[in-house]
Amino acid sequence: MRTIVAGNWKMNTDRASAEALVSSVVKEAATFGNDVQVIIAPPFPFLAKAVEQCAGTSIVVAAQDCHQAEKGAYTGEVSAAMLKSIGVGACIVGHSERRQYFGESDALIGEKVAALLAHGITPIFCCGERKDERESGAHFDVVTEQMKGALGRFSKPELERIIIAYEPVWAIGTGLTASTEQAQEMHAHIRMLLHTHGASVSENVPVLYGGSCNPTNAAGLFAQADVNGGLIGGASLVAEQFLELIRIAGSASA
Ligand code: PEP
Repeated sequence: MRTIVAGNWKMNTDRASAEALVSSVVKEAATFGNDVQVIIAPPFPFLAKAVEQCAGTSIVVAAQDCHQAEKGAYTGEVSAAMLKSIGVGACIVGHSERRQYFGESDALIGEKVAALLAHGITPIFCCGERKDERESGAHFDVVTEQMKGALGRFSKPELERIIIAYEPVWAIGTGLTASTEQAQEMHAHIRMLLHTHGASVSENVPVLYGGSCNPTNAAGLFAQADVNGGLIGGASLVAEQFLELIRIAGSASA
């Protein structure tokens, strides 16, 4: 399986810095090798330009969210069909910031996954426990519930088109990272949940780690048997760090 390095730029960058960041990554694209898949997720206004800039490379441009409806009176929202029409290839859904600040439920996130699959866009489904849930020992149950609640409705071929990102909420943007053991045991748990849908699902669905992943800790994380790469926030905003993470991913999959 290829190691995936996905950058989530959140509500950061302006037009000039987004274009400059994409251009720094594009310049190096020929060096990435076939074992690494690079995905970048700029803010909505910069997606179309990023698609244009990445044309002819293997870099996939992703959105950070979408609306579940096909179209209609949803002022301010963006549909999967719109994303498809500009060449977006993947979309993050269920990020903990969406769950926390916008009250997104697992059922709603499942609807977004369905909308993306219907348009041939790869959903990057995020799950992960809060600090209090980890401290009370509920982390495996929390992730099980999130997976079942959002993804339980999908068929085996549909599941095989999804990327999962395990992002412990306490590690996102905090500088705290899950230890390699904590990451591996949760990824193995997710793999086991996927396995209930068939061996091919657990073999083919990439499971990424996210949460203060950076060039210092990435090698250890990406070396874990069930960690297939990373969803990177802060470090993906610094071209040198993001490119270094891509290089580390290349060595991990070699
Ligand atoms: C994220 O937002 O998905 C994330 C992992 O952020 P950071 O790398 O900054 O913790």
